[in-house]
Amino acid sequence: MLDFYNWRRRNALAAEPNSAHRALARAQARLASMGGRLFLCTQNVDDLHERGGAEAVTHMHGALLRARCTGCGHGFACRGDILRADPCPGCARTGTLRPDIVWFGEMPMHLEAIDARLREADLFVAIGTSGSVYPAAGYVMQARSLGIRTCELNLEPSDNAVLFDEARYGPASGTVPAFLADLGLA
Ligand SMILES: [Zn+2]
Repeated sequence: MLDFYNWRRRNALAAEPNSAHRALARAQARLASMGGRLFLCTQNVDDLHERGGAEAVTHMHGALLRARCTGCGHGFACRGDILRADPCPGCARTGTLRPDIVWFGEMPMHLEAIDARLREADLFVAIGTSGSVYPAAGYVMQARSLGIRTCELNLEPSDNAVLFDEARYGPASGTVPAFLADLGLA
């Protein structure tokens, strides 16, 4: 299990942010300068949004570049491999470190904060998601019930496509910058 995530971490570090990551970061800064907020919540565990320039990214499935101790709960930034022999920086035990990400069957993180931000939103945009993994897949229904405008930007229609007010299909590197430009946030 650790080996698999060590491999994924190395791959994530080798990847580069694309034009969609960068456009979202610019839109976040632009909106903030106008007194608004772009709450960026991702199911991705890589740091491409952060390296694309985004601030305060909410990682609901955790972060590959963080580790935590199952013994004492200590969490910390971790860019290298996690090995069973590594001692926890918090409690010095060994064999207790794991990636700080959500494994199958575990609860996603930051659900209360996400719910609070959704309630104050006036636009909900789902980008590059299957629409089949809950609770994230349920947010469009929640947004609709709150009267929030909804938009899907995806390679192809998601399982939830009919629930969105608007949809644009194609690679995120094209649809995301174009959509944000239309909002005046490019
Ligand atoms: Zn510990």
